[in-house]
Amino acid sequence: MTAIPAYAAATATSPLAPFPIERRAPGAREVQIDILYCGVCHSDLHQARDDWGGGIFPMVPGHEIVGRVSAVGGEVTKHKVGDAVGVGCFVDSCRECAHCRSGLEQYCNEGMTFTYNGRERGSGAPTYGGYSTRIVVDQDYVLRIPDGMPLDAAAPLLCAGVTTYSPLRHFGVKAGDQVAVVGLGGLGHMAVKLAVAMGAEVTVLSTSESKRGDARALGAHAFAATGDGTVFQSLAERFDLILDTVSAQHDYNAYLGLLKVDGTMVLLGIPEPSPLSAFPLVWRRRKLAGSLIGGIAETQETLDFCARHGIVSDIELIGIDAINEAWERMLKGDVRYRFVIDIATLGGT
Ligand code: NAP
Ligand code: ZN
Ligand code: ZN
Repeated sequence: MTAIPAYAAATATSPLAPFPIERRAPGAREVQIDILYCGVCHSDLHQARDDWGGGIFPMVPGHEIVGRVSAVGGEVTKHKVGDAVGVGCFVDSCRECAHCRSGLEQYCNEGMTFTYNGRERGSGAPTYGGYSTRIVVDQDYVLRIPDGMPLDAAAPLLCAGVTTYSPLRHFGVKAGDQVAVVGLGGLGHMAVKLAVAMGAEVTVLSTSESKRGDARALGAHAFAATGDGTVFQSLAERFDLILDTVSAQHDYNAYLGLLKVDGTMVLLGIPEPSPLSAFPLVWRRRKLAGSLIGGIAETQETLDFCARHGIVSDIELIGIDAINEAWERMLKGDVRYRFVIDIATLGGT
């Protein structure tokens, strides 16, 4: 065991503060990663504030991890010392259920092991995430960062990237489809880039008029501010697919009215519950769906797709001392478009 620097929330109401943790030496099939960068996902905030209940404290968040392999166990074949690698939202699963066997580990029947705010299989010890300088992970749950990709801007692909790539693929988005992205934050800006790369006609629906120019710069074909409500008439029945990335409570029924007959709205954001009316679904045979991150193979596919299309995240690199302020800004929708922590600012081991 080695003590390393990390930042944790001691309780659901405490700010993040230094909290040294122990990391074990890598086991036979494990990879030790010296973390360079960690993206800041809105799920970090939801979990550290215990919005979803059941939080394990102290909590060291962070599941958009990029670093370099610094040691490997004797049976590791997939990664070697010096490789640029990534870790996303989970670090283990049962490996035997139908979902694990088909590459959908995120839907593991026994529950995936979260990178943080989870418990290790076997020992039951709490897992700690990427707001720390080192992590040790089984080789099968470690991703390869494609050559030439900037490591800081690659980090958000491990969650925001795959979470938006997966439903675009699953729901079969193709060239010319009308796709709307609701909420232009970390997930939203990746959704725009990925849907554009797949050939879709992309419209951003945002509460922030100030993001209009950015939406166009990200490649969106159109932008509509939702504030005055007129878009719910002017864009009615326009879209084949809507990706809803909004982190706060909002009226799903209004957005469902923007779908064509047989269109699908996919919930990615996980806010407080809000009421759902049968009418907008029944009246046009629309579908309401949800989607959770992506499996290991699909996360690698996302990274490789992004490398081929020259896609990374638009990031604001911060030192760890700015993390509490970054979380406050994220709550206000003031992120352009993902905070990434420079882990060197935590100090050495
Ligand atoms: P984020 O960067 O904070 O972006 C969320 C965006 O939602 C904001 O930028 C804002 O966009 C919009 N928004 C915020 N408050 C709003 C409100 N009151 N009404 C309408 N729009 C509002 O967050 P993120 O990291 O992208 O995460 C978004 C959500 O996805 C979170 O709930 C997170 O937990 C969840 N998530 C889910 C998965 C999954 O597997 N399904 C994975 C990762 C994250 P505008 O300014 O453009 O309106
Ligand atoms: Zn995330
Ligand atoms: Zn399983």
